[in-house]
Amino acid sequence: MEDGHIGRRQFMQHSAAGVALAASSNLALGTDHTSQRRSAGKTEGLVVTQADVLVVGGGTAGTIAAIQAARAGAKTTLIERGSQLGGTTTTGGVSFPGLFDAWGKQIIAGIGWELVRESVELDGGKLPDFARVPERHWENQVRVNQFLYAILAEEKCEQAGIQIAYYEFPQEVTGSPDGWRVDCAGFGTRRRVLCKQIVDCTGGAEVVGMLNLPRLRGEQTQPGSILFKLDKANSPGRRNGPGTGLLDSLYVHGADSTNSRTVTAANLKGRKSVLDRVRKERKRLMHLQPEAGFRESYRIEGKTVITVDDYTSGRLFEDAVCYAFYPVDLHTRSGVKPRPLARGTVPTVPLSALVPKGSRNIIVAGRCVSSDRLANSGLRVQASCMAMGQAAGAAAALAVRKNTTPLDVPIEDIREMLRRHGAIVPTA
Ligand SMILES: Cc1cc2nc3c(=O)[nH]c(=O)nc-3n(C[C@H](O)[C@H](O)[C@H](O)COP(=O)(O)OP(=O)(O)OC[C@H]3O[C@@H](n4cnc5c(N)ncnc54)[C@H](O)[C@@H]3O)c2cc1C
Repeated sequence: MEDGHIGRRQFMQHSAAGVALAASSNLALGTDHTSQRRSAGKTEGLVVTQADVLVVGGGTAGTIAAIQAARAGAKTTLIERGSQLGGTTTTGGVSFPGLFDAWGKQIIAGIGWELVRESVELDGGKLPDFARVPERHWENQVRVNQFLYAILAEEKCEQAGIQIAYYEFPQEVTGSPDGWRVDCAGFGTRRRVLCKQIVDCTGGAEVVGMLNLPRLRGEQTQPGSILFKLDKANSPGRRNGPGTGLLDSLYVHGADSTNSRTVTAANLKGRKSVLDRVRKERKRLMHLQPEAGFRESYRIEGKTVITVDDYTSGRLFEDAVCYAFYPVDLHTRSGVKPRPLARGTVPTVPLSALVPKGSRNIIVAGRCVSSDRLANSGLRVQASCMAMGQAAGAAAALAVRKNTTPLDVPIEDIREMLRRHGAIVPTA
């Protein structure tokens, strides 16, 4: 073992000690117990965290899932590999979430909408008029200031009592009769989370993959995109101000969010293509998002797999927990030709598409929802991800309360909680 580093065996011993400490001192859930060694100027921390709900991935869906779980009374920890909340909405620069409305009325509200609305209001912006059915689907997407959105999300997490852990990611996930033991790594720190429920909001269902639960993936995946701006990033005006301005984007073919190697490769490729553009156009680079945005990687295989027919027919699932709305929107090498939904159609998302087949005590939210590729190309948009996040957070918190697994929580209890927290729940 290298001096100053805790080896794996020692980590296990330290962890066991931390668990014993937690049990004997009867401290509140969510409390950290840190065992530290100082050596050669370095501090190696081993943290043991007890929580009811662990949300992995503080992106578009995960932030909302965590806030819902915490507001429902669950001790909630949120692990995010990056440096801020919001995921593709902020770090990816896709700061125009949609769609909260369909055919002249709002169909998604709740915590995601609260955050979006407050971001726009604080920024002095204007919200779309949902009573108006736009000619083009994207007109009612809401421009948010990506910087403000990330900070407001943090504030809401803090107010809800959520413990946020940035720069960390799960390395090993082990089930036990009491729930989960999730060993996470960060730089200069290691954390063991002991929790009852996991909400996987990593985009590509990474925790589900670590557990060898079934996931779906097409032979081809949609390109990602790197967002940037040449010359005019600081132009004034609400729709084009800092943080809200419409950015340019370049496809990053093969962009894959599966692991740090594939994410690195996508970022390198994306930035190189931006540099090529700067050289070619001889313009100044005024803005560049720190990471590429990923459209597609893995989806879970749930008890229900939402098909494109379910999606385009607006099937009302028996266990529907939220609506979703967007054209079928598959990007390929030759671009994208959105296929709008027929007038009046509003798809729904069932709880059983958020739970990996054959699993207990784990639920997902976001673009990894159990669905075929075409259905997923519409379901993956941000308002829908936020609505799924709220539903998953509610189901996880109720599962803790009832000492059961999310799929065994009576659906009416989940719906009742969602309504109480401002969400819109599909009805016949
Ligand atoms: C270029 C582009 C354009 C788009 N255009 C639109 C649009 O116009 N309108 C719209 O509404 N939607 C659009 N989308 C789709 C939408 O933005 C995404 O599908 C959606 O934001 C995904 O949300 P998510 O919560 O599933 O994932 P994300 O928002 O990506 O969040 C995943 C989070 O998990 C973290 N994470 C990943 N792995 C780990 C790990 N192992 N441990 C800890 N943390 C982890 C990530 O850092 C990230 O913060 C677009 C997407 C792209 C890429």
